[in-house]
Amino acid sequence: MLASAWRSVATSVETQLTATYFRGSSSNPTLLLRSWRTIPRADAPGFGAIRRRFLAVPVICPSLVKLQKLRKVGFRGMHSTLEDVQLEGMEIKILPALQDNYMYLIVDTKTREAAVVDPVEPELVIKTVQEQQLTLSKVLTTHHHWDHAGGNEKLLKLWEKELDVYGGDDRIGALNKKVQQDDTFTIGGLHVKCLSTPCHTTGHICYHITAQQGSGEGAVFTGDTLFQGGCGRFFEGTPEEMYEALCTKLSALPDATKVFCGHEYTLQNMSFARHVEPDNEVIQQRIEWAKHRRASQDPTVPSTIGEEKSWNPFMRVHEATVQKHAGGATDPVVTMGKLRKEKDTFKA
Ligand SMILES: [Zn+2]
Repeated sequence: MLASAWRSVATSVETQLTATYFRGSSSNPTLLLRSWRTIPRADAPGFGAIRRRFLAVPVICPSLVKLQKLRKVGFRGMHSTLEDVQLEGMEIKILPALQDNYMYLIVDTKTREAAVVDPVEPELVIKTVQEQQLTLSKVLTTHHHWDHAGGNEKLLKLWEKELDVYGGDDRIGALNKKVQQDDTFTIGGLHVKCLSTPCHTTGHICYHITAQQGSGEGAVFTGDTLFQGGCGRFFEGTPEEMYEALCTKLSALPDATKVFCGHEYTLQNMSFARHVEPDNEVIQQRIEWAKHRRASQDPTVPSTIGEEKSWNPFMRVHEATVQKHAGGATDPVVTMGKLRKEKDTFKA
């Protein structure tokens, strides 16, 4: 009886917090959540459940990535919860958008300077930047599709200060810093290197961010080129180009590099990966893990480059098992083309 009363209080508070967050009210849900931390644990049944639901829950992963659920609010109407990932010298804030897109805030831990990747929902970006007291200076656009670049102009209008807008395609709105392969720039003290990965679109850019120039694993923002367990459709390119992107450029990054992709497609992609390699155990394990994460609307990003090499069929086109599935050709580019064709009509 008491437990159910607490649960209904929890639900009501959650609804209020969510509404407050999106109404743009002056009260700050993050501070409110933090203040809950100071409340001594009550003996009433159900109170623990409230704490678990609202307070920060640091999770230490084997690879020492710290996922911090600092702002588990706003999940009504959002496909995933908001999460922060701590890496060497940087903090990545995962911001869900639209039906299954991800935007990301990359924050230099020392200077608090930040860049945003694909800000299709600028209001949430601005709200987070203000709430976290960040200095937003750059926009990193992966490609021109509306669900990635469609918020650039609105962000500039709402932000009212100057922003450098990076991208590799003239079709990107508000673009003022056009980049190509191997171009570099900084976000505070962080180093950014551009990787040109044409195929999904001709001007697609992936951004590799490290704490120190030329070294360290860091993070790579792969847009619609590399997804967890899959890759983007070949709208404007060829199997050769996707092979170059996935198996030459992205595969050359250190295995521990964290991969932040443009969509939450992991379960669908992994279902296809299992279809291609039914005996690959890491695929099955990742599916179980991802199901668990999605049951509570937790994002499945990031993975790592090393993990993608172990389960992503499109990065495994050299493997005999994958080649056999794709018809037996031993040419990895032919295998790439056949896999993509099959995936285009695959029903998970
Ligand atoms: Zn796209």
